[in-house]
Formats: sequence, structure tokens, C-alpha cells
Amino acid sequence: MRIYRSPRLLRWLFPSAIWKGADEHAVYLTFDDGPSQELTLWLLETLRKAEIKATFFCMGNNVKKHPELYRQIVADGHEVGNHTMQHENGLKTSVGDYLTSVKEARKQIDSPLFRPPYGKLSVKQYLEIKRLHMKVVFWSWLSYDFDPSQSMDQLKNKLHTINGGDILVFHDNPKAADTLFESLQYAIDFLRQKAFTFKTIQP
Ligand SMILES: [Zn+2]
Repeated sequence: MRIYRSPRLLRWLFPSAIWKGADEHAVYLTFDDGPSQELTLWLLETLRKAEIKATFFCMGNNVKKHPELYRQIVADGHEVGNHTMQHENGLKTSVGDYLTSVKEARKQIDSPLFRPPYGKLSVKQYLEIKRLHMKVVFWSWLSYDFDPSQSMDQLKNKLHTINGGDILVFHDNPKAADTLFESLQYAIDFLRQKAFTFKTIQP
């Protein structure tokens, strides 16, 4: 069985991390892993037309590769956050190396928001990141847009499980491109119909 929701244990381990947004009438779109040649401009265009602001958790190395795309995300008024330099798995990386990656990425991405890749983070890493005055942001609803074994119908059905305040994860990553081209506008329309507004994660 797949876990779309964050387990209670994690909430207990990381008590001051952000799991949900404060506004029960809003949902919080987040896009991880970018910027990317394949998707960023299309995402920005889609969000611009829909008049939605989202939060982009960028990888430092991708910002270095595509500085103009990163600047465009910021110029469009979206919130940005740190997603390490190269998508390190916290549980497979030493505390020192992990912290170095977060700090390096912070030179590229001016934001106190931090989202751990794969949601994997040790308690020690979490405490160190808090000492950098950064806010750890998890999520409450995962789209699995990067997973080719998930059908479009499954994804669309899963939209019914979204509640007010949910932080939704999508990916600015080539692996998710086909899925998003086909489903993002549908998801936006669906959520609008449910009378949700769209908000960004506040730093
Ligand atoms: Zn990621």
C-alpha cells in the first residue's frame, strides 16, 4: 500500500516542522526538484494563467544550471525553498555532509524554507537545520506524479482525498513531466471547483 499521508511518528519526531497550512480554505501547491528545462517555464505559464502562486523547493545544482529559470520563478512572485544541492537522502548522508549541502544550496536559494528530499531526515540533521533558523517543510498529500506505474485515473481519483490546509507535492522534474502536462490543469480546476484558494508556504 502506498502512503500518501505523513505517518504520525514523523510528526512526533519533528514537532516544529510544517505539515499542513494554516488556512483551512486553502491548499498549498509545492513543486520540488527544479528548476528544469523540461517543465519550469510550462509550470510558470500554467500558474500565471490560473493566477496561482506556489512554492518551489529547488535543488542548488539545478539553480546553478538554470539561473534564468530560477530568477523567473522568483520574478513571477512564487515562494522558493531549499531542497539541498543534489537531492541527498538524509538517512544515507552524514550530518556534516548534509549540512554542507543545505548551506551550499542556501547560497543559491535565498529562503529559510527547507524540504528534505524523499522526506528523509535524521533527528540530528533536523536539529542542526533548525539551528540555521530554517523551517523544515514536509507535506500532507503526495501526488506520485513521478511514478509511471500510477495511472491518470488513479491520480485524478486521489484528488478527492485533498482537504483544506493540505500541502500538495508535485515535481518540477522531467520524470513528472508527462503526468503534469496531462493532469495539472485538471487538478487546478478540480480544486477551484471545491472552492479552495491557493496559497504559498510562508517563510
Ligand atoms: Zn525532491
